[in-house]
Amino acid sequence: MSLLDRHRAVMPAWMPVYYGDDALEIVSGSGRRVTDANGRSYLDFFGGVLTTMIGYDIAEISDAVRAQVATGVAHTSTLYLIRRQVELAEKIARVSGIPDARVFFTNSGSEANESALLFATNARRSNQILAIKSGYHGRTFATMAVTGHRSWSSSSLSPLVVHWLAAPDRLRGRMAGMSDGDLLDAAVDDLREVLATVTAGDVAGLIAEPIQGVGGFVSGPDGLLGAYRKVLAEHGILLIADEVQTGWGRTGDHFWGHQAHGVVPDLITFAKGIGNGFALGGVVGRAEIMNAVPATSFSTFGGNPVSAAAGNAVLDYVLSHDLQENARRVGALLIEGLRNLPYGILADVRGRGLMIGLEFVRSGTTEPDPAVTTRVFDLCRRNGLLVGKGGLYGNVLRMGPPLTLTEPEAREGLAILTDAIATADAESRIA
Ligand code: PMP
Repeated sequence: MSLLDRHRAVMPAWMPVYYGDDALEIVSGSGRRVTDANGRSYLDFFGGVLTTMIGYDIAEISDAVRAQVATGVAHTSTLYLIRRQVELAEKIARVSGIPDARVFFTNSGSEANESALLFATNARRSNQILAIKSGYHGRTFATMAVTGHRSWSSSSLSPLVVHWLAAPDRLRGRMAGMSDGDLLDAAVDDLREVLATVTAGDVAGLIAEPIQGVGGFVSGPDGLLGAYRKVLAEHGILLIADEVQTGWGRTGDHFWGHQAHGVVPDLITFAKGIGNGFALGGVVGRAEIMNAVPATSFSTFGGNPVSAAAGNAVLDYVLSHDLQENARRVGALLIEGLRNLPYGILADVRGRGLMIGLEFVRSGTTEPDPAVTTRVFDLCRRNGLLVGKGGLYGNVLRMGPPLTLTEPEAREGLAILTDAIATADAESRIA
């Protein structure tokens, strides 16, 4: 029985696997490349959904983890002091931009958001949350309730009361084709209307991704979260920035995605890249909110010595190698190359730093074309490039390569993408 058949026989039916019957098993990696079980090498522009932030087999990170494992203590309990955890919390508090910040570690992004929702609802004594359509925040009870993406938000029976704001989508929906200024006005009007019609203003918080990840790298104009923030402040409503995909310099222009919006959130959630593959997430936020949970609360594994060792090494690496600047420079090269492609199926190239999305449509329309997207996705894999898929309609290719991506690697990936898009475009005209 193949590994895929065994996977299908034992995992729940709803678990997605990329590449269908040609599913991929990665067995090793180095730098920005991985090798599959058949010995084929791929350039990795997805980094396991933006988790491999530095790259594969990076000595500084592997050595830090090995050193911890060599002590014989992978973990005992977070009820004891863990030096690496405290050090990492200090660093994250420092880079958060939040005065008097506190940090709580978790094992995943879902748990980080679940915790942020717990802190915000406790601090405000309200079970009402504002969330943005097409957003994705995780696979737990509360995070599914605030996920506004039809592929992922199967009914959650969470007791949260969620009020939805329109997604800042520039291609379709009520904000299609708007100028940045008009879109900002429309988004603020939407928020004001929701607050005034279905709430008494007694909402705990707004949770938002600075750039919607699973939603297809959709983002509003710079300043959107700042514009929301002014209205929220009138009611004391907290702002939770979900930086699970956008943090740590990925967007090039900024260290955190929310910095493009001129705000300092009350709570920031993080996960994915900070562990470079090790399970690490958390919340950094204002002390008065983080302290508001009335009962003692801790996580068995959150911030364990191995993950914390990885996290310290990753954050040190990001800062000492100025990977934010690398993301800006190499990302700009990729974005410019992609924007020059003259293909009708490619409706939008959007991105910031090394977070780049390509939206595919039926040529000459804005009608989403998930089939052509899958074709480009498969052709990329066939030619040695791993990318991701996403978007509300499954018609966005998502790229979030390791932040160490070099210019030659960016050009190599660009050539494969160009070839795949040209082929799919030609086929779509014949079909
Ligand atoms: N928030 C965002 C923005 C995400 O992209 C994800 C994962 N795709 C999560 C939260 C959930 O993280 P995890 O899968 O680690 O629970």
